[in-house]
Amino acid sequence: MRKILVHNFGDATVMQIETADNPTPAPNQLLIRISAVGVNPVDTYIRSGTYGKLPTLPYTPGFDAAGTVLSIGNEVVRHSVGDRVYLNGSVTGTYADHALCTSDQVFALPDVLTFAQGAAVGIPYATAWRAIFQIARAQPGQTILIRGASGGVGLAATQMSRNAGLRVIGTAGSDTGKILVTRCGADLVVDHAEHDEVMHFTNGRGPDIILEMMGNANLVEDLAIAARNATIVIVGNRGEVTIDPRIVMSKELEIRGVLLFATSPSELLQIHTGLAPGLRLGILQPVVGREFSLDEAVLAHEYIMRGNTAGKCVLLP
Ligand code: NAP
Repeated sequence: MRKILVHNFGDATVMQIETADNPTPAPNQLLIRISAVGVNPVDTYIRSGTYGKLPTLPYTPGFDAAGTVLSIGNEVVRHSVGDRVYLNGSVTGTYADHALCTSDQVFALPDVLTFAQGAAVGIPYATAWRAIFQIARAQPGQTILIRGASGGVGLAATQMSRNAGLRVIGTAGSDTGKILVTRCGADLVVDHAEHDEVMHFTNGRGPDIILEMMGNANLVEDLAIAARNATIVIVGNRGEVTIDPRIVMSKELEIRGVLLFATSPSELLQIHTGLAPGLRLGILQPVVGREFSLDEAVLAHEYIMRGNTAGKCVLLP
């Protein structure tokens, strides 16, 4: 098999292609032939050594992918050889053409989705689902502001919020991103820092839920525009911010964080079970943006950190 190996944390160039024998699955494991790999921002934080929890070196990056079950251990019952699947986690890392997984990291990939779309499901869709339904407990008729709607998590959040009967305001930093967010079902699409249009759209009330992809940049503004009793869910953050707690008191706001990696196994199962009908019926349609070969993982990492996102970045082994 071919895989990326990282021997030292550092800039994107620490990712090197190496070859190795295919691993053999243990009794509760599956060997997956990977057709597409999802590139997530967290892959870059880990590779650079700045993330809170780091793997033992050397390691193969990546959590998300899609492909075909090649072989299974004798205790695996939920999947069969030949199944099309998407991965949300693996034992050996997904920046490779093969990966070992445990059963609970593997989910059926409906025929209506390509492998590249399947690679875009794992972290983005699970995070969006957790933030909207498990953390914010969204209800039909509420208004949600998705700040950073053009990225992997944001487009997923836009599709599932719309499908759940919420009114959706999305933000994006480029015209291409705005078009995508509109296509995914947002009722209103504005710039990241927009204030007046959001207030106008909500008749001066503000959004009931805010999904925040860049907490350090926007939390002060989120507090200012949130409706009374709103829930602000911090999904992404790249720095510090000073807020006035008085606003949280006076509007009785709830500020919640989400960390997909801290989700319990039963909640994760609930999330992927909840995603399944929407994926199968084409209501949840992962949007694939730039595609790179596995050998171009360095370029892919540099690309996703540059911004102006337009769909999910994937690697094709
Ligand atoms: P992505 O695909 O790279 O998208 C990044 C998004 O952030 C784009 O929509 C981008 O919009 C937007 N953005 C850029 N500047 C912004 C600003 N000033 N204010 C608001 N949004 C801004 O990343 P992703 O996979 O969607 O993840 C989004 C964030 O959530 C990342 O920071 C990621 O690390 C984090 N995350 C956290 C968890 C968790 O468990 N907590 C899970 C997954 C992801 P434009 O490109 O259009 O400007």
